[in-house]
Amino acid sequence: MKLSNLGEFGLIHAIQQLSSERSPGTMIGIGDDAAVLKIGPAKLLLATTDMLIEDVHFDLSYTDFYSLGWKSASINLSDIAAMGGVPRFCLTALALPAHIPVKAVMDFYRGFNALLRIHKTVLVGGDTCSSKGGLVISVTALGEAKKRTLISRTGAKRGDRIFVTGTLGDSGAGMELLKAGIRRQKTEARRQESGVRSKDRKSAIRIPQSAMRALIERHLRPEPRVEWGRRIAMSGCASSMIDVSDGLSSDLSHLCEESGTGALLFGDRIPFSAALLRSADQLRKPPLDYALSGGEDYELLFTVPLTRMKTLEALRIPVTEIGTITTGKAMLQVNEAGKKIPLQPTGYNHFKGIKNCPKRST
Ligand code: ADP
Ligand code: MG
Repeated sequence: MKLSNLGEFGLIHAIQQLSSERSPGTMIGIGDDAAVLKIGPAKLLLATTDMLIEDVHFDLSYTDFYSLGWKSASINLSDIAAMGGVPRFCLTALALPAHIPVKAVMDFYRGFNALLRIHKTVLVGGDTCSSKGGLVISVTALGEAKKRTLISRTGAKRGDRIFVTGTLGDSGAGMELLKAGIRRQKTEARRQESGVRSKDRKSAIRIPQSAMRALIERHLRPEPRVEWGRRIAMSGCASSMIDVSDGLSSDLSHLCEESGTGALLFGDRIPFSAALLRSADQLRKPPLDYALSGGEDYELLFTVPLTRMKTLEALRIPVTEIGTITTGKAMLQVNEAGKKIPLQPTGYNHFKGIKNCPKRST
């Protein structure tokens, strides 16, 4: 069978079936945001690893090395945050093509360590080798959690309300703007080469500079919601949690699958930033599409039983209620008057290259 038939998640499932031996210390193995390993009667070690490949996850024509380091750290810490844990240590493995300057690698680690410093996490090791292809980055993050407050993907129950922190869609829109910028530069360069004067001023994207900067910043330097994740966990209000890395449609589907539930998602309640709303008429897709399938927002998606809504409120974290857990399938209701349609997981899936889905960049 071809990888493209199985898809990323089918492949992970097959690996999971082949590797089902458990040690007594494995509380959660393959299948959640991070593995959960017992290291004491009440203490848990969280372990997660993510790989970033040039031209699959990031594009060096519009990504600076400082941001690349920052983001490599961020996406791993986000997986620790999604379990309600506290990140402590990181390891990095790099496969470097010979043409990459030393300064670029130093910039990568400046960005990487800047993000770690914010979350009191340290780099403790890794591996370095040469690459005959593109740049490959692998980051492992280790964190800790208490048995009592750990949140996995599996605990959602019918009737629980679905919440998301912050806003969604900025990262996908930011990536589109970066790509459009590169396309324009190339067109301009071709025009200059051929001596033709630029007349196509109409195609320029007219988005206020501040909004453009905000969207791009969220794509290149996402913030892992470590502190919010920890506070949600400590309060005990959430029954399940996942971070939004692949896109709301895919990540909600993962959560439902692991919990054995369905969901009803209200499309008209998805929170968008002011920057995305101000840019909406200049972008190729409506904000909801970026939220559902853009991915890389690294917000936390979690469920709260009705009896614990007050506990969540008391935390005063910026969250929005966007749906309800059901026993049926995952469904989307685009607006209040609209009918319910099946929620297709249109976020990024390696090997499948899903339709309507931008290539994941960084
Ligand atoms: P996330 O988007 O949160 O990083 P992934 O979709 O990458 O999660 O992975 C889902 C689960 O599958 C995780 O538990 C991860 O550890 C596991 N996993 C992914 N790829 C592999 C692999 N090649 N071998 C073993 N486990 C894997
Ligand atoms: Mg995750």
